[in-house]
Amino acid sequence: MLSQRTFSIIKPDAVRKGYSAAILAEIEKAGFKIVSIKRLSISKAQAEGFYYVHAARPFFGELTEFMSSGPIFPMVLEKDNAIADLRKLMGATNPAQAEEGTIRKKFASSIGENAIHGSDAEDTAAFEIGYFFAGHELK
Ligand code: ATP
Ligand code: MG
Repeated sequence: MLSQRTFSIIKPDAVRKGYSAAILAEIEKAGFKIVSIKRLSISKAQAEGFYYVHAARPFFGELTEFMSSGPIFPMVLEKDNAIADLRKLMGATNPAQAEEGTIRKKFASSIGENAIHGSDAEDTAAFEIGYFFAGHELK
């Protein structure tokens, strides 16, 4: 698909370890344009709103605790086929299963602390972009 936007987050584990710039470099090297980016910390309630689709999962408490445990870099990325291509660049949710060369293979330590988030479909990308960015931040 031509010039599509997706949403990504550099998660607290990667920010804490000082991997933010290296992850951004991988993203740019793969041809993504960084349309907008910010650094912030979110509350547990804000993390719960973001990951509401997982509310019934057993790991929901752990996930939202972790996502609110320190600064993150939410960002909007753009390229052809951005949603699928970012998922490919990220690698499998569990870094132990991530392909060589992927961001999670290089920078993630466990299924819970896996360095990066990426939207999985057009509708979730739209929701997630709107959760963190106002229209005037996306020109
Ligand atoms: P993300 O949505 O963060 O990009 P994903 O799409 O690869 O990751 P999801 O199935 O959407 O994976 O799960 C969301 C997040 O919940 C995962 O990134 C991971 O950090 C956490 N998670 C998923 N499964 C487990 C699990 N079995 N145990 C602990 N945490 C998990
Ligand atoms: Mg997901």
